[in-house]
Amino acid sequence: MLRQKFEATATCPNCGAEIKVRNPKIGQRVTCPECDEIFVVVTIEPLELDWADLGFEEEEV
Ligand SMILES: [Zn+2]
Repeated sequence: MLRQKFEATATCPNCGAEIKVRNPKIGQRVTCPECDEIFVVVTIEPLELDWADLGFEEEEV
């Protein structure tokens, strides 16, 4: 039985939690379940995350 599901694990650069990403793609945004920070996928193998550049998105509270 072939399964095409690919799941990689990265370490959150902010809080160190493990973040599982299914079928990661470079540039994909990932939210840490622990600290709710948003990161982007920079490399797939090994899976590494970096801070997302949210400079263009204004958050008005
Ligand atoms: Zn985190």
